[in-house]
Amino acid sequence: MIAANYTMHLHCDCEKCQALKWGSPDFGEFIGKSWTECAKAARACGWRISKDRQRAFAPGHKIFREAA
Ligand SMILES: [Zn+2]
Repeated sequence: MIAANYTMHLHCDCEKCQALKWGSPDFGEFIGKSWTECAKAARACGWRISKDRQRAFAPGHKIFREAA
């Protein structure tokens, strides 16, 4: 059998966390068998992940909107 684990590290990309001079943005770690599984677990915890998989936002943090 193959036991493959996928680890996803999320660092909040909201304006507030990115503006921090001291400390670090909200951080989350999720482990699953695939990206999809990790993303699902993260979303269940309230994280938001952008469609292009470039940005993540911690639960309750303000989502930064790209210029449309
Ligand atoms: Zn944040």
